[in-house]
Parts: sequence; C-alpha cells; structure tokens
Amino acid sequence: MIPVRINNCNTFKLKCQEYQNFVASNDFSNLVCPICDTKGDFTRNTSYVRNLIYIEDESFDDIEYNSNLNSIDTKLKITVIRCNSCGKYHALLPTFILPYHIYSAYFIMISLQAKLIKNLNMNKLLESLGISHKLFYYWNRIFLNYIPSSSTVLDTADNSPPNILKLIIFNFENFLSNFYEQFKIIFFLNYDNHKFY
Ligand SMILES: [Zn+2]
Repeated sequence: MIPVRINNCNTFKLKCQEYQNFVASNDFSNLVCPICDTKGDFTRNTSYVRNLIYIEDESFDDIEYNSNLNSIDTKLKITVIRCNSCGKYHALLPTFILPYHIYSAYFIMISLQAKLIKNLNMNKLLESLGISHKLFYYWNRIFLNYIPSSSTVLDTADNSPPNILKLIIFNFENFLSNFYEQFKIIFFLNYDNHKFY
C-alpha cells in the first residue's frame, strides 16, 4: 500500500474527487516504491472496490455529537499500480482511509476525539456515532498502541492520549504524511500488524 495525500477538503465528496483526479492523471512521479525505493516508475494496473462508512461534512472543529451525524455507506474504487522496477503491486490508498478499516479516517478520529478530548458520555458517544462499544475500544486500543511512534513523529514530550490526539488532528494530512515518511508504514494499521515494538 502507498498512501496518496488528499488535501484537507471539507467534504467527503471533494476528497473522493481529488483522489479520482490523481489516479486519472497517471502522474505517479512523486511516489516511492516501499519495496525497492524506486521513485516514480509505476504503471497503472488494476483496481478493486472497497466499502467505506463516512460522514459527509468532515470538520474536526465544528462537529456536534448529536444523533444526526448521518454516517453513509459507500463503495470506493481503489487503484492499484505496479512498480516497473521490482514488479510488485501497490494499492493507492487515499489518506481519508486507514488501512483495513471500513470507517473513514475522519470517522475514527472524531470517535476518539469525543472520548479523549471532549469527555463525552460513553452512551451518548455510541448513540451519536452509531457504533458499538467493542468497536470503539478496538480503535482506542490501536490508538494507544500508536502513541509512542506518534509522539516521535510529532516531536512532543507530552505523551498523554488527549495531547497526542489533539496534535494529530490539528494537521491530520501532514501528520499522516510524516508518519509514513518516518516509518514506511501507514498510520493505524490494526493492532496485530503493528510492528514498532
Ligand atoms: Zn519496487
């Protein structure tokens, strides 16, 4: 998987449009193969469809945790490219999707924000987001597991979960890019795939 940086547009539709424009451009000159480190030598190969649950208006600041968040199910076409140097195939994963998670990156982050930063009552949180207790704690566990590596990327000494999360969502796209650049792993891979320690 290679992450494709999608600038912080406010709506999910714009983000999808930006991703589609990027893959349609066939300009992969800035991408680097995670296997052989060759830069910009790719051929567009195939695609697959994956499911995603998202919220239309994606803004960390303005969100109100009420029952009208309206999560939406969709299907998204993900492009796969082939490295001409080593022959390996890589899915181009837009940064609004975290690897192997069916909920969008924003959705997962606002769930964590609700608890860790806004101290929302747990029942209200689950009702507002329409997720289960189990799912929330699964994300929370992954997040806690990522704190040491995230604090390295953020260069902060304050390792408290609320502080790390605040810094992450303050400039989410930059954080995701920097994280990948530093560890060559996409942020928030699930617990079992985590290989930092
Ligand atoms: Zn390669």
